[in-house]
Formats: sequence, structure tokens, C-alpha cells
Amino acid sequence: MVPGPVRRPPDKERVAKLALPVASLHGVGPKLGERFARLGVDTVADLLCLLPQRYEDRTEVRPLGSLRPGEKVLIEAKVELAEVAFRGRRSLLCRVTDGTGAITLRFFHFSRGQQEGLQRGVRLRCFGEVRAGRTGLEMIHPEYRAVDTDTPPPEPTLTPVYPTTEGLQQQRLRTLAGQALAMLADEPLVDYLAGRFPADWPSINEAIEFLHRPPRGADTAMLLAGRHPCQRRIALEELLAHRLSLRNAAAGRRRERACGFDPADERVARFLERLPFELTPGQRGAWREIGADLGEPVPMHRLLQGDVGSGKTVIAALAALSAAASGCQAAIMAPTELLAEQHQASFSAWLEPLGIEVVLLTGSLPAAERRAARDRLASGGAAVAVGTHALFQEAVNFRRLGLVVVDEQHRFGVHQRLSLKRKGERGDFAPHQLVMTATPIPRTLAMTAYADLDCSVVAGLPPGRKPVRTAVMPEARRGRLVERIAAHCGEGRQAYWVCPLIEESDHVDSSAALERERELSAALPGLSVGLIHGRLKAAEKERTMRAFKQARLDVLVATTVIEVGVDVPNASLMVVENAERLGLAQLHQLRGRVGRGRDESDCVLLYKAPLSDHARERLTVLRETNDGFVVAEKDMQLRGPGEMLGTRQTGIVELRVADLARDADLLPTVVRLSDELMADAPGCVEPLTRRWIRAGSEYAKV
Ligand code: ADP
Ligand code: MG
Repeated sequence: MVPGPVRRPPDKERVAKLALPVASLHGVGPKLGERFARLGVDTVADLLCLLPQRYEDRTEVRPLGSLRPGEKVLIEAKVELAEVAFRGRRSLLCRVTDGTGAITLRFFHFSRGQQEGLQRGVRLRCFGEVRAGRTGLEMIHPEYRAVDTDTPPPEPTLTPVYPTTEGLQQQRLRTLAGQALAMLADEPLVDYLAGRFPADWPSINEAIEFLHRPPRGADTAMLLAGRHPCQRRIALEELLAHRLSLRNAAAGRRRERACGFDPADERVARFLERLPFELTPGQRGAWREIGADLGEPVPMHRLLQGDVGSGKTVIAALAALSAAASGCQAAIMAPTELLAEQHQASFSAWLEPLGIEVVLLTGSLPAAERRAARDRLASGGAAVAVGTHALFQEAVNFRRLGLVVVDEQHRFGVHQRLSLKRKGERGDFAPHQLVMTATPIPRTLAMTAYADLDCSVVAGLPPGRKPVRTAVMPEARRGRLVERIAAHCGEGRQAYWVCPLIEESDHVDSSAALERERELSAALPGLSVGLIHGRLKAAEKERTMRAFKQARLDVLVATTVIEVGVDVPNASLMVVENAERLGLAQLHQLRGRVGRGRDESDCVLLYKAPLSDHARERLTVLRETNDGFVVAEKDMQLRGPGEMLGTRQTGIVELRVADLARDADLLPTVVRLSDELMADAPGCVEPLTRRWIRAGSEYAKV
């Protein structure tokens, strides 16, 4: 392809008009402005990006004889008979004909004035949905008006139906979009991509104009599916803007400095010798990449992906160790207290024999302990801090933070990742960042939402792991599972019983688990059953986890607090209640708690019947694969990226037009264009990003 002429960014004047607040349009006051804000529309340009969800065809008057039930159509016909009927619900029936056929207009609510207006002989133009009624075709509550000399001809273009909010009428939206389009026609947007893809693609202005006002005969099925070239053109540009902003941020960070660690320090060798296992080839590969980055005086920004149980923790420990060996500190942030406590135990066991002090910092520690931990970090006495989001609270100061590790990143918001990084910033000096996720990120997401990070993958699992067998069954079979648990634990093995959050309240959450614990204790007299949930005190959780780890408990009843990180290889059976309510990635995580030892493991997913088709499809995915990367792709297809990452994950949910699942095939083009523009038209990056990404978004700052 021939690269197009490199255009200069638009001058300030031109940007200014579309960048005006929507309130500058005629007829928009503060109240309407607020309603627009609810739709994410602040400026005139935002309004142009608010694309219709669907269209109505009012371009042609349809003969009554041609109508089919289900169609929404424009008709013109003469009233033949109007009467109030009392059969069933009182309604005003109005029979109209046009010489080719007849249809009945039915009104359940009507005024006297309306009734009087619908006299025999009056010509009406109506728009509404055709339905099959008792006595032939009907339209219920159509829009209508009497036809007279100043009735305008049918609409020249399809009528857009916009996503809207209470108090903002479609008609109002259409008029205002019309004003915005007139401004666009006056001052078209600069097409930064002109000449950079095949000539039959529409320009940005053509695409916007078309989508607000598709001509008669436009392919509505394609539009509805979001696959029209004009929609694709806009989605492409939006995805490109997001990627550019992240690549640009990454480029900017190359100017920051970091402390280069010595990955070949002799303590690294001693650490590896003392480990009870050998690193897998996947772990060695990932560590090679990470170690090399850490050796550079430029901050690392790396995503470490690997399936549940692939052994990412030990790599984080290696990174922390090399920070400590170079006189820097490392902070490891986990999403739950339980996981933080567990990491603290592993890190202490691994690093303290090498003379490296590890402290724990979580919200539920007693104040005195928290203070002590903070003092050790401020003085530099402790080189490694493991904790929850408590790590980035104001009062925590590091002496020389050189590395930030975020475990299970999908559970954190972008802001949290950002504030921990800021703790280590001094002038243009920034800490290295390692972001770990056990919910593998579909490639499409990695290419957009994570485009600022380099990526390493821990391929494969430690040796001897057997795939977990997964069964899906209705809740009614719970009783038989109790027998199965008795047999399972009778052989010296352990089991989890998970009661996920049912209501949006911690209280209900823990009480469901509490009840199950009582039931199982009663039904399994020979076994000891423990209970763990988020509302227990840290010390209590720790006691219970330790008891389960040491096999003093046979069965652990838990809420989803055990979703991440918990590691008890002797537990090889898991039951998950209400599995239909959990996301695929979350279920895969939970299932990852078993299958960690040498025994064959089982996971039983219980659901409350009846199961929706959608839920059945999701559970089937889990039954059929143990591969987290496959699960993640499916999860994204079925739920969309916003859902998948959780609402706390800002950024990707801000996509206005593009849909990562639907538009995944655009991504190679997005990648190519972003590389091209960064190289030969860097001046476009800023205005393109500004066009699509709201000011103040944290998206690009991570
Ligand atoms: P995840 O990637 O899910 O965080 P973990 O780091 O928790 O996985 O590791 C899972 C389990 O595998 C732990 O018990 C860990 O000690 C063990 N493990 C890690 N690496 C290896 C290895 N190379 N060989 C054997 N076991 C390993
Ligand atoms: Mg982990």
C-alpha cells in the first residue's frame, strides 16, 4: 500500500468548534446538558460519536397490501371507520384503507380530541409496527398525523434511533445530531488515515455522516450487526486512538530512569539451589526476559501471563530478590488479604534465609503491627513488602522502592496500579513494574488495553499436573456429593466447598457459607470442616488456612475469597455452588485451586435449574477445556471485555463504538497503523487520541 500524504494536525480554530460543549447547540440548556453527560456526551464531537443503535425506515410509504407482521413501516391511508370497542380492554379502533388493503389502528389510551380527529374520510400518515391482530393486521399506538397540503414528503434518509436516557427524546436527539452534522459539514474532521488503507474505505467524515443519516436502501441488517464499512472505519479509528495513547505513553516512559539490578547476583543462584523444585522451561524463559529488563537503567513495564498454577509467584520472588540484592526495595501487591498472607509466608520462607527481611502490610493488621511494618519500610530495614492495597496508602513510605509487582492484576483498577508506582517515583526515576495475571488476557485485549506493556508468558505447567476433570450438575444432586466427599476425604485427601457471593452483601455471602459449614459438619461427623470468608479477622483466616494446609481440616467451606492464589496441593476435589452466576474466568481461577498435586482432581460445578442457554454454554466451555487461554477467549466472546475485566477496570470499557469481540479482525490493521503513524506522522498521535479519549482519562497514564 502507498502511504498517503502526511497531513498536519488541524489548527486550533478547527478543533475548537466541534470541541464546544453540547450546551452550545440551540435548545440545549443545563438540564439537557446533564442528561447528555449521563450518555457520556460532553462536546459536539461526542454527540457525533453517539451512533444510532438501529434505524427506522420512514423513507417510503408502503402499500397496505404489502405489509407483513413484525415490520415497522410508514403508511398512508384513509379512515373508513372509527369506534370505541369494549371487547376485552376498552380501545379506540380505527380502520384505514388505501386501495391495496386495510389495517386497524388500535389505541388503548386516547383523548376525546383524538377520537374526534379520526373521523371517516380523514387521510392519515402513520408509522408503527405491524402486528397480526384478531381481525387482521393491526398497529398499536402508531405515531400518526393527518395528511394535508403541508405534510412533508417521506424522510429522505433512514431515521436513527439513538441510545438515550430518561428525559432525552429521540426527536430531540435527531435534531441536535442534525445541528452537529451541519457543523461537521462546515468544518470536516481531519482524516489522519487518508491513504493508509484501501481506497474503498470511507473517510471519517463520510462514515459519521452516513451512520447518522443512512440513505434509503442502506443495508440495515449489516448496520444492526455493526459490520457496515462505515462502522468499521470508526471502530478502527477508535481502537487505533487507544493503542496510540498507550504506545505513546510507553515511548514517553523510555525517558524515565530506573535502578538497574544485577540479575546474576550470587544470591539468585543460592535461591534457585534452595528451591524444592527446578524451574520449568516456561518459568526460565519468563525469568530470562524479566531479569534482562531489570538489569536495565530504564523502568520495566511487563505483563507476566500464565495459566493458574503455572508458577508465577516464584518469578516475582526472583525479581524481588534481585531488587533487594541491589539495595532496592520491592512491593508485591495482592488483591486479597488471604493471598497477601500466603505470599508473605512463601516470600519469607524463600528470602529470609538469604538475609532479606519481608514485611506484611494489610488493612486488617493491628495498628501497632502496621506501624512497625511501615517503619521497617521507611528505614529500608525491610527490603520486601507484601500486602494489599494498604501498600499504597498515604502513610506508607519506601526508602528506595525499585520494583512494584502487582499480582492478579485483573482484580485491581488502573488507579491502584498507578498510585503504587507513584510511591517509587523520585524526579525522573521510576520503579520497575511487573504485572501478573492469572486470567490470561485474550490477544485482542493485550493488543489494546495492555498495549503499553511488554508481555512474557509462562508457558506450560510444572511437571506432574493432571488436568482437572470438570462435571456440571444441578443443585439437586448436592446430597450425593456429600457422600462423595466422605469417601474422598476418607482416603486422606482434602476438598473445597465454595459458596459464592449470592447477594451483593458480605453478610449474606458469609451466612450462606456458614450454613453450609454447619450442614456439612453435621453430615460428615468423622471429618473436620473449616470455614473461611472475607469477614473473618486476619488472624482467624490465617489459622484456618494453616490448619487446611497442614491437613488438620478435611473440608474447607469458603466464599470466593479463595479464588486467587490459595495453594494446597493435597486438596483435589472442589464443589462450586451457584456456578451459573460466576464468570468463566472466575470459575477457571477457582478450579485452579485443585489439580496442584499428583492426584487426579475433580471439580463439580453445581447450578440452580433452570439453566439459561447462555449459562449452559459457559459451563460447557469449562467442562471441555482446562486451558486458561481458551477460557479467556471464550469469556470475552460471551461477556465482552468490560464485564470480563470487571467494572473497576477503567479504560477498555470506555470504548464507544468499537467492540473488541466483534472487531477483533481489525486489530492487525490497528497495530500496523499505529506503528506507521508513530514512525512517520507522530504529530497525529495527540489529536487522534484527544478525539477519542476523554480528557482526564487515566487510561494512558499507567
Ligand atoms: P500461579 O501462577 O497460579 O500464581 P503459583 O506460583 O501459586 O502459581 O504456583 C503454584 C504451585 O506450583 C505452588 O505450589 C508452587 O510452589 C508450585 N511450583 C511452582 N513452580 C514449580 C516448579 N517449577 N515445579 C514444581 N512446582 C512448582
Ligand atoms: Mg498466583
